[in-house]
Amino acid sequence: MEKIARTKIVDLLERKDYGAIVNVKGWVRTRRGSKKVAFIALNDGSTINNVQIVADPAAFEEEIFKEVTTGACLSVNGKMVQSQGSGQKVEIQAHDIEVLGVCSSDYPLQKKGHSLEFLREKAHLRLRTNTFGAVFRVRSQMAYAIHSFFQQKGFVYFHTPIITASDCEGAGQMFQVTTKNLYDLKKDSNGSILYDDDFFGKMTSLTVSGQLEGELGATALGAIYTFGPTFRAENSNTPRHLAEFWMIEPEVAFNEIQENMDLAEEFIKFCVKWALDHCMDDLNFLNEMYDKELISRLEGILKEDFVRLPYTEGIKILEDAIAHGHKFEFPVYWGVDLASEHERFLVEEHFKRPVILTDYPKEIKAFYMKMNEDGKTVRAMDVLFPKIGEIIGGSEREADYNKLLSVIKERNIPMKDMSWYLDTRRFGTCPHSGFGLGFERLVLFVTGMANIRDVIPFPRTPNNAEF
Ligand code: ATP
Ligand code: MN
Repeated sequence: MEKIARTKIVDLLERKDYGAIVNVKGWVRTRRGSKKVAFIALNDGSTINNVQIVADPAAFEEEIFKEVTTGACLSVNGKMVQSQGSGQKVEIQAHDIEVLGVCSSDYPLQKKGHSLEFLREKAHLRLRTNTFGAVFRVRSQMAYAIHSFFQQKGFVYFHTPIITASDCEGAGQMFQVTTKNLYDLKKDSNGSILYDDDFFGKMTSLTVSGQLEGELGATALGAIYTFGPTFRAENSNTPRHLAEFWMIEPEVAFNEIQENMDLAEEFIKFCVKWALDHCMDDLNFLNEMYDKELISRLEGILKEDFVRLPYTEGIKILEDAIAHGHKFEFPVYWGVDLASEHERFLVEEHFKRPVILTDYPKEIKAFYMKMNEDGKTVRAMDVLFPKIGEIIGGSEREADYNKLLSVIKERNIPMKDMSWYLDTRRFGTCPHSGFGLGFERLVLFVTGMANIRDVIPFPRTPNNAEF
């Protein structure tokens, strides 16, 4: 076959130089036709759209068409012509077809319309479907949006460690990292495991958050963001939790809680607008197939100011709803850690727009959050979104050394390996704030998918680490 430089289908579909001789390569989505004419829909992953290949079977060896089945990989040379009826402006009249890879007849994606559950079990192949092509192109664009947002603002991309020795936040939900022989553990006389002969000479785990190291970055570089993998061994089999997920954590020196909220709102709106500006083909598909309100919901986010509401007011609204007959599965009272149903009630039914809930009871929030004057609440801020519930969790941090130390003692937090963290408060402490956005929760929101397992290529959840 004559060697012609390959054109990606996304670029080809934009071209208008009809008559040009082109080469495309990709995988067969469908083939139909008759003895007189064959239509092949080819996709190369560069766009949700297929290019239609039109071929006259008589002009080819018979053997070739036996191999042009769904899933087969082809290289096609042909003339680019204006299309009559394929839904695209461009199609290719093939004069040469090479089958780069035949597709075995047990290919599981022969037919369209497999359930998402079925496709999860074929996660290595589901990438080839329209749905997952769309989701993972959007996911990639969201990563680009995030870097663009922070880089434009002069934030430093800061890499925090994945292996950590601090267990002050995630005790109980951390994955341990060890090279020890688990069949022959060295223990002291009380039966506690000794780690002095382990790789790091102490107990280590996978990080649950890069925040504490992020604070070191912010109090030196001014404004940083992290964007990396995060691990939580929480046994919560929900549509919004993964054991391995990606988190974005900006941390900014001199920002107080108000500025932290402004940053979070501007950031999320930037990402949503980016999706509308760069991913419309994929969003149109997802809107059509999965969620008819997707695009209007995304546009709605850009129009409205987020509600900013203290937790205490939120509880009143929920109690009021209960008094008027609304039923929740979980109880509501001041001090409760809100469940997703409560968060979604505030957002979807009461305010009908995103809510930033602030000033939570200190008991249900992390030790490092700045105490309010009331002595009962802390300067936390959770951003609550329609369909998702919590998408961002953040706070202004306690900058006062003595106050921070007394909370640590009160809560018996093991800080033996954390003097470095307290040093930020000893050597030129400053007000600072930050938050964490769960990347997959953003991708869930932007794609309209319902299950977090469907927005990361290879999900890790309890009892599932396949592929
Ligand atoms: P949730 O109450 O939903 O479990 P969290 O309070 O544990 O969330 P944070 O510790 O504040 O969450 O983490 C910051 C952000 O990381 C959350 O707002 C959420 O977007 C995301 N996140 C937290 N846990 C997970 C998880 N297991 N899988 C995916 N994203 C998560
Ligand atoms: Mn959690």
